[in-house]
Amino acid sequence: MEETRSDQRHALIIGGGIGGLSAAIALRKKGFKLDVIERDPEWSVYGVGIIQQTNVVRAVAELGILDDYISSGYGFDHVKIFAPNGMEVAHVPQPTLVEGYPAGVGIGRPALQKVLGDATTRAGANVRLGLTVSDIEDTGTLVNVTFSDGTNSSYDFVIGADGVYSDTRKRIFPDIPGPQFTGQSVWRYNFDRVEDVQGLWVYNGAPGVGLVPMGPDIMYMYVTTPEPDNPHFAPSTLAAEMRSRIENHPSESIRNLASKITDNSGVVYRPLEGMMLEGDWAKGRIALLGDAVHATTPHLGQGAGLAIEDALVIADELSKSDNVEEAFRNYRNRRFDRCNYVVKNSLAICMGQLGKGPAIDNSKATAEMYQIVAEPI
Ligand SMILES: Cc1cc2nc3c(=O)[nH]c(=O)nc-3n(C[C@H](O)[C@H](O)[C@H](O)COP(=O)(O)OP(=O)(O)OC[C@H]3O[C@@H](n4cnc5c(N)ncnc54)[C@H](O)[C@@H]3O)c2cc1C
Repeated sequence: MEETRSDQRHALIIGGGIGGLSAAIALRKKGFKLDVIERDPEWSVYGVGIIQQTNVVRAVAELGILDDYISSGYGFDHVKIFAPNGMEVAHVPQPTLVEGYPAGVGIGRPALQKVLGDATTRAGANVRLGLTVSDIEDTGTLVNVTFSDGTNSSYDFVIGADGVYSDTRKRIFPDIPGPQFTGQSVWRYNFDRVEDVQGLWVYNGAPGVGLVPMGPDIMYMYVTTPEPDNPHFAPSTLAAEMRSRIENHPSESIRNLASKITDNSGVVYRPLEGMMLEGDWAKGRIALLGDAVHATTPHLGQGAGLAIEDALVIADELSKSDNVEEAFRNYRNRRFDRCNYVVKNSLAICMGQLGKGPAIDNSKATAEMYQIVAEPI
């Protein structure tokens, strides 16, 4: 553990998800004393996976947990793009940013949560589950927090990493509009990994389909579909609903997989929403990170990666300055352009797929994104 002058400073992180836990690990490395609170008493996440791009492997290396992370997922080095009928139309190599390691990773959300959660507790952060904030007051020199169990504590600063519907954002910026539904939704389901699927496979067309390996024996499929009326589906209908969207897919492999979607409880359905906080990302001694400030649609597979990078940058800035507000400003300035790029370009792909904007060439967009996120954070 690095010992720095930060040793005396005490911080609270609200939200024990991907961004909050990464921030906890990064801040503990810089010597801050930390409490992390998580609303969910079970600390649970849903069971499909997540794509982690080349910049995320570098960020996880900086957190110091790369070996655990890689061994919990499936490393790969390319994206294959297919025409709807299954003909391969592009092979996009991913740049390797950490020598000796895979360029990208597919990983189950529970596996990622375990790697980050174990590292957070190992690093000495005080994690409290089933707890949220009832009241928060920034005095200008400290932040006084009352928790939902009636206890109180004071902190030098607070980080809200409480996701897309962030209560912390609502408290400090009550007038900022929340996330907007795009008109598109995503369906996900796990399968035994098909042997040939050794990287991210993306099928162009409508619906958009992707296959992501997340372990030697397991992969997941995502299917993006227009759902303009934002319907609600009864849990008992989810498998049939997902199947119906791809059972006539032009690719025989996708049709074969469709027939195996039979378990309603295995289908994860999610309307896609997005938001970008264009103004400040902090007020006084309370800052936001991850989806609380830049909830991107998943079309470039970068939302979680951005949250992990935010964590490294905010910890770096806080360790360099005793002036919390200055550190928060510098953090936002270092992060804004990249996050804005991902949110705007992901949304453009989504709008192209919905016919509400120009169609975006997936292979070009992916190659450009790799170039941009390879830049240092
Ligand atoms: C369909 C879909 C697919 C995606 N696919 C990818 C992908 O392939 N690759 C990728 O990089 N990203 C992907 N993302 C994005 C990614 O999931 C998010 O960007 C990431 O989870 C953001 O992390 P976070 O920590 O900001 O928020 P979260 O992961 O949402 O964590 C927030 C945490 O805060 C807790 N919390 C909330 N409110 C409170 C409160 N008031 N008090 C205490 N705790 C609270 C929550 O319980 C949760 O644990 C996808 C997103 C969606 C919707």
